[in-house]
Amino acid sequence: MPLQAVRPKILGFISEQASAWLVASVVFLAGIALTFVVAWAACDLNRQQVRQRFQLLVSERFSRLQERFEDQEQRLGSLQRFFINSRDVTRAEFDGFAQPLLLHARAYAWAPRVLREQRSRFEQDISRALGTPFAIRELNAVGELALAAERDEYVPVLYNQTQSQLGSPMGFDLLAQPLRRSTLERAQKSGKLAVSQPMQLVGVEPAYAMGVLLVAPVASRTGAEPFGFVMAVISLRQLVADGLPRPDRDNLVTQIVDTSDLQQRMLYESGNTPSDRDLTVTRRLTLGDHVYALTLRPSEVFDRSSRSSLASILSMGGMLSLLVAALLYVLVSQRQRALKLVEQRTVQLRVREQELRGAHSQLRSVLNAATQVAIIATDLRGVINTFNAGAEQMLGFKAAEVVGRATLESLHLASELQASAASVSLLLGKRIPPSQAMLVQSPDSLHEAREWTLVREDGSQLIVNMLGTALLDDHGLWVGHLAIYLDVTEQKRAYEALAARDRLLKKLSAHVPGGIFQFTLKPRGEWRFIYASDGMRDIYEIEVGVLQQDAEKVFERIHPLDVERIRASIRSSAVQLSHWREEYRVILPQRGLRWIRGEATPEELPGGGTLWHGYVSDISDLKRVEEELRALSITDSLTGIHNRRYFQDRLKAEMVRVRRTSGALSVIMLDIDHFKRINDRYGHAVGDGVLQELCKRIGQRLRRTDVFCRLGGEEFMVLCPGTDGQQACRLAMELWESLRSVPMDTVGTVTASFGVASWRVDEGIDGLLLRADSAVYLAKQAGRDRVTPEKLPA
Ligand code: GH3
Ligand code: MG
Ligand code: MG
Repeated sequence: MPLQAVRPKILGFISEQASAWLVASVVFLAGIALTFVVAWAACDLNRQQVRQRFQLLVSERFSRLQERFEDQEQRLGSLQRFFINSRDVTRAEFDGFAQPLLLHARAYAWAPRVLREQRSRFEQDISRALGTPFAIRELNAVGELALAAERDEYVPVLYNQTQSQLGSPMGFDLLAQPLRRSTLERAQKSGKLAVSQPMQLVGVEPAYAMGVLLVAPVASRTGAEPFGFVMAVISLRQLVADGLPRPDRDNLVTQIVDTSDLQQRMLYESGNTPSDRDLTVTRRLTLGDHVYALTLRPSEVFDRSSRSSLASILSMGGMLSLLVAALLYVLVSQRQRALKLVEQRTVQLRVREQELRGAHSQLRSVLNAATQVAIIATDLRGVINTFNAGAEQMLGFKAAEVVGRATLESLHLASELQASAASVSLLLGKRIPPSQAMLVQSPDSLHEAREWTLVREDGSQLIVNMLGTALLDDHGLWVGHLAIYLDVTEQKRAYEALAARDRLLKKLSAHVPGGIFQFTLKPRGEWRFIYASDGMRDIYEIEVGVLQQDAEKVFERIHPLDVERIRASIRSSAVQLSHWREEYRVILPQRGLRWIRGEATPEELPGGGTLWHGYVSDISDLKRVEEELRALSITDSLTGIHNRRYFQDRLKAEMVRVRRTSGALSVIMLDIDHFKRINDRYGHAVGDGVLQELCKRIGQRLRRTDVFCRLGGEEFMVLCPGTDGQQACRLAMELWESLRSVPMDTVGTVTASFGVASWRVDEGIDGLLLRADSAVYLAKQAGRDRVTPEKLPA
């Protein structure tokens, strides 16, 4: 089933390919849009609620104010009826009645109508009643109270009940003032309550100054002429604002305008700041014969208290959208990661499965291809369940004959198994049955193939190497054994033959003096002994194993003066493939200095490098004999000094040297005088003694560099390197003197004739010797017993 088919989509609608960012962005944008819709709805609702609330507030405020206005009318009406019903009202009665009425009104007053002819009588009556002079007064031109002018009619204030003590002054004629007069006239005319135009109240704090006068006519009956007026002085602020919330706490902004006022003056204004809302309500309020426009608007306080939750909805919605988007981003990206992981794992699993399948078939082919190896697997009981082609070939059984029927034990030689089981049991300290013996690793042969004898189908035996391992399943549980057998019969035979050869070689090399070796030089200059016989150990005093590991050890033994020569000769033999033959010294820890001779024949190795087969032998004894012989060949046997041959060799060498360095070289030749006579007189043996004594004396006098030789008979020669003629003559004189000054035993004084000659440029050996010989001859001629220098050329 394809993987995609079983994958549910994220949230049912988001494609899983959509990146987490896209999903989160879409969700965020949707959230924001939803937030705006909700905010819009909430805003609308809020607007409605605000409007309803405002209407409620307005209704409440309006009814309250209307109540107050009506209340004022009723109060004044009750005062009016009080005066109608009791014709004569005393001041005390007025005060008693009017005082309780003082609510929302500044003052109540009673002003009777006084006709022109009644004035003086009235003033007298009142003066008497009051006990103080009383007159009807009016404001004069400068605003002071003065006696009222003559008029047909007066309406002076008689009783006055006021909240403050600043009511209308007693006797003040209301008709004297146009505003009041018109109000009174309207009241008189209509017989009903009349209200004055707005006016500034006198004696009231400024805030409360704007007010009206409410006047009611008092008549004995309806339609009759009023005999006075009752009036209420009303401060609009007091009427409207008292008992209501303070302006800074009021939800409403209140304005009252008198509609009948031509100037449309503001009677009352609450003074708080109106809000920006488009909400205004205007109602009509009536007081007396006036109609007032009450305008109500929401205030800032209202605004504040009915603030919409738009901002919080927007911010909450935004936050929520962001949170949900973030959550979705995390979920989607996690899910995508998980799905990707699952996909990867699935691919890996498939690859593994493929590999496993490949490995399985490979294993099967390997099992069958390995015809030289027997591979046999068993279950835990030891019953064979795998028997490969190699096993069939090796043992002669068919797989079908043994699989599920035979055990591993049945293929082994029983006696060998029993013996092995017994020894392993002893080693491990627990009983091991023979059927397990081949599978148990004995502690001393861990991981090593062991040799066993198997029995073929035809009863013949073969020797095999067996490797046994435990078979474990996937959970590491032991499910059987695997045994791998390798037929080593042939190998064993070859090995034995090889071992025999080795033994033979060892025996042979033991009887050969010196050591034999195989030595290689690799192209990179690496020395190595492939083989070294035991004799090599005696030659170099190095163990053979050490030698084979590190050929340098041999070079450490070779004398420092010889080692470079040997290395060079080996390299040269490798380059030219020439027979190598060298004689050299070694310095051994035990035997000291020894002479070795080595010989080897090189051959080129296929991969580059050279292989030598050779031998080394100790030739120290030979060298010693050789040395002795050499010494003998250059020594005079009678006198022990050098002989003529040596003299000639040395003279040649010195001639070569002196030619190269252009130094000096001289010879002194001497011949015993009348030696024949000594022989004749004392015998040959005494003659020999004289020769020996002479050599002793001369030898003592000579310098280290001088070479003293017997040329033959009684003739001698001294070779003096680095010595010119004069120096040689002086030496000759000394020698002459040493010989003749002391007589010898038996024969007495022995003398000799000396001749001296020095080397001349471009001269050969013969020339020099001839001149020396001539000098001796001259000495003999001159009478013997003297030193004669050579005859210098003329
Ligand atoms: P002259 O002064 O002229 O040299 O006389 P001479 O006798 O020394 O010379 P001459 O050459 O005639 O004699 C040399 C003799 O030395 C001859 C020989 O018998 C003797 N002679 C040579 N070799 C030896 C030797 O080895 N031992 C002894 N005892 N005598 C030797
Ligand atoms: Mg002589
Ligand atoms: Mg002589």
